[in-house]
Amino acid sequence: MLRFGTAGIPASTKATGDTVAGLKRVAELGLSSMEIEFVRGVYLKDKTAAPVAYVARKLGLRLSCHAPYYLNLNHADETRRRQAGGVLHHAARMAAAAGAETIVFHAGYYLKDSPETVYDAIKAEIETVLGKLRDEAVKITLRPELAGKTSQFGNLAEIIRLSKELSGVAPAVDFAHLHAATGRYNSYAEFAEVLERLGEALGRESLDDLHLHVSGIEYRGSGERRHLNLQESDFRYEELLQALADVKAGGLLICESPNIEEDALLLQSVFRDLSPKV
Ligand SMILES: [Zn+2]
Repeated sequence: MLRFGTAGIPASTKATGDTVAGLKRVAELGLSSMEIEFVRGVYLKDKTAAPVAYVARKLGLRLSCHAPYYLNLNHADETRRRQAGGVLHHAARMAAAAGAETIVFHAGYYLKDSPETVYDAIKAEIETVLGKLRDEAVKITLRPELAGKTSQFGNLAEIIRLSKELSGVAPAVDFAHLHAATGRYNSYAEFAEVLERLGEALGRESLDDLHLHVSGIEYRGSGERRHLNLQESDFRYEELLQALADVKAGGLLICESPNIEEDALLLQSVFRDLSPKV
């Protein structure tokens, strides 16, 4: 089953900034998942995370979490790199405490290094974080996100390779980013190709438990500029939804449009009216 949800607390939540109120609003809207946004900082502590997990469970919602933007697991300075790993570890712990099953993160920037060197550095840092989480018996999937800018690490091949080589890692497929970074990937055939690649490399299970980001997007040569509402963008979301229906995709589809819940509801309602064509 594919569950639709919002990137963060819905805008129409009366108590602004209140995660528990946000979950209640998500359920009220008829959506079934939410991504907790730690993008500007890990704002939950053990004490405030527990009620989030409790309410999500009670409402039957599935949660993911987005780690801080300022992470760079490929920082030139080793101390800073370790610190970034520490931030990811802390974010993952708090996300798990809040009941999230996934933590999405932007792994880092290429800087001046060769892609292969960057891959090794980022992989090593992720392995350290995975080891710590395992020692602490924290259950959460680490999901490096498909990058929206050409300066950022994380193209489709890299994300798939990390997921293959590290247990506990799976892709966060941001279709808006993929479109922005490549100028392509905006048709049924291309969306289907991505899903096929995932299924081939990571098995059918990966299609049963996808983590997707969708929104409209403005972009130029080097990639992402800003997110747009779907109907103000060129993104062919109906074709994406058809491709997802055709592979019987499961997991979470998180909407990152500026109007958050409006586009999440639009995507959900279009998807519900589709039936597999193949
Ligand atoms: Zn992201």
